[in-house]
Amino acid sequence: MTITKSLPFIDLKGQQERIRADIDRRIARVLDHGQYIMGPEIRELETLLAEFAGVKHCISCASGTDALLMPLMAYGVGPGDIVLTPAFTFIATAEVVSLLGAEPVFVDIEPDTFNMDPNALRAVLNSDRVKNGRVRGIIPVDLFGQLANYEEIEKIAREFDLFVIEDAAQSFGAAYRGRRAGSFGNVAATSFFPAKPLGAYGDGGAIFTDDDDLADKMRSIRVHGKGTHKYDNVRIGINGRCDCIQAAVLLAKMEVFPAELEARGRIAQRYTNGLPEGMVAPVLGDGHTSAWAQYTLQVDNRDEMIAQLKEHGIPTAIYYPKPLHLQDAFADLGGKLGDLPITERLAGTVFSLPMHPYLAEEDQDYILETLNKCQAGA
Ligand SMILES: *Cc1c(COP(=O)(O)O)cnc(C)c1O
Repeated sequence: MTITKSLPFIDLKGQQERIRADIDRRIARVLDHGQYIMGPEIRELETLLAEFAGVKHCISCASGTDALLMPLMAYGVGPGDIVLTPAFTFIATAEVVSLLGAEPVFVDIEPDTFNMDPNALRAVLNSDRVKNGRVRGIIPVDLFGQLANYEEIEKIAREFDLFVIEDAAQSFGAAYRGRRAGSFGNVAATSFFPAKPLGAYGDGGAIFTDDDDLADKMRSIRVHGKGTHKYDNVRIGINGRCDCIQAAVLLAKMEVFPAELEARGRIAQRYTNGLPEGMVAPVLGDGHTSAWAQYTLQVDNRDEMIAQLKEHGIPTAIYYPKPLHLQDAFADLGGKLGDLPITERLAGTVFSLPMHPYLAEEDQDYILETLNKCQAGA
């Protein structure tokens, strides 16, 4: 078969062309003032992002992983503690728990939203699986851009006296009944990895919270556990700062971010309207808007479908082919096939289509036509 097109999975070039002059100007300003670490762009970015998310404090940091790690450190999570997370996520969500010597316990997900199932969460909390430790908190993930069910999860958290850390690495810009990602749970973490909905030109992340005490602790942890100054160290911390040049890039990207979110939403809607029979489209819950970090389908004949799309120059990706409870890195936790049936089924059936705000309508049409042709066996 001849390749008629060769599409990128994520196209950062189209965006760069649109905002290149602003990025150049903002980076030049950093080079001029020379405050590469914690310069004025950091404060400007934190103020803007806090306002956007609708929370009191934004603490920018070096990555989404650090944005998850620092709240756990602030809560004093360590050996003997248990934190509940989904297994259908990027490893960072649970890795930070293990890194602190605590134990991640995995919770199954809802088959339509891909997010933590509150009923499964309650079942795990009432089961023997948490009997060997002190359960401290929950890290729900807003997978592929849609918020988890915080109404139910926060209810359960209050009942069991647990903290909730929103993993908003994929959902920055999403909302539930007008309330934006970053404002759920006690504290939220997002990532500015280049391929995320709001991506920098390198690593970066941010933490959001309304909790003054927690914010103070995390600002201290971000700079080696600083007290009144850098060489007064009151706790163990990390070097978790965001670079000023990345903040400058993010400030330029924030100018177009709301329009990009709308474009992602339009593309997702067109995909959903044009899908062939036999492919399960992602489902948005009532009152939800997604940041559409990924547009993720379910099909039974995944390998065949992916191979055919590739022949037609359409790249796809599988998030995530191997759930965390089956990863070698977590082998000592004793996870096995059959533990999380929904997670395991989805790991075998999901794949994601190209998704970025600069995907032209004719390319969307080409992708839909090809999907329909392949599904019909043409
Ligand atoms: C990307 C991602 C992270 C980690 O972010 P980094 O900036 O790459 O460290 C954490 N959780 C989820 C769900 C992610 O997608």
